[in-house]
Amino acid sequence: MLLIAAPGGGKGTQGELLSARFGAEHISSGDVLRGAAEAGTPAGREVAAYQRRGDLVPDQIVFDLLIPVVAPATARGGYILDGFPRTLPQAMTAAEIGLRLDLTLDAAVYLHVPELVLVERLLARARPDDTPEVIRHRLQVFADTTSPLIDYYRRDRGILVEVDADQPPEVITDEIQARLEDMSRASG
Ligand code: ADP
Repeated sequence: MLLIAAPGGGKGTQGELLSARFGAEHISSGDVLRGAAEAGTPAGREVAAYQRRGDLVPDQIVFDLLIPVVAPATARGGYILDGFPRTLPQAMTAAEIGLRLDLTLDAAVYLHVPELVLVERLLARARPDDTPEVIRHRLQVFADTTSPLIDYYRRDRGILVEVDADQPPEVITDEIQARLEDMSRASG
């Protein structure tokens, strides 16, 4: 399963709740990339510069850092990806890799939250990339580059689950679980 949401949409929170509920590993691309940035490797230093500005990290770096984390998780039995893919090219490459490795993607969950609520949540969180200017830029990047994924998973793949994510976290998790159960019943 993968989680799509604008910055502040609650991918991290739902990733943890869903992972506890389904016993699947929670992998946050943002955390993996921040880990590399903190480790200060050459790739990590590049990552840090993109994250500070609120720009997307180039696909090649994302794949190089993420594949070694995702591959063993799939072998251990399922994962919840939060923050990846974030661009159509990332989704296409991920789909190819999935086909080659015979992995199926069950659902893409879109956590929908009104923009005013997103900004409030981000300002309350105060991560280094949560300043008003960088927040504005990240929301724009989401609208331009990530939101086309919503239609891709809805129309082309038929696995989109859209939920109202301006609700208490446990209520959202319940709703996602119910929707996933409906989906698996429908597919027999
Ligand atoms: P948020 O969704 O609040 O922006 P994340 O932790 O998901 O928080 O992402 C933080 C930053 O990490 C992004 O602004 C971007 O620089 C980088 N990042 C995370 N995932 C990806 C990805 N799949 N592709 C490119 N950059 C990414």
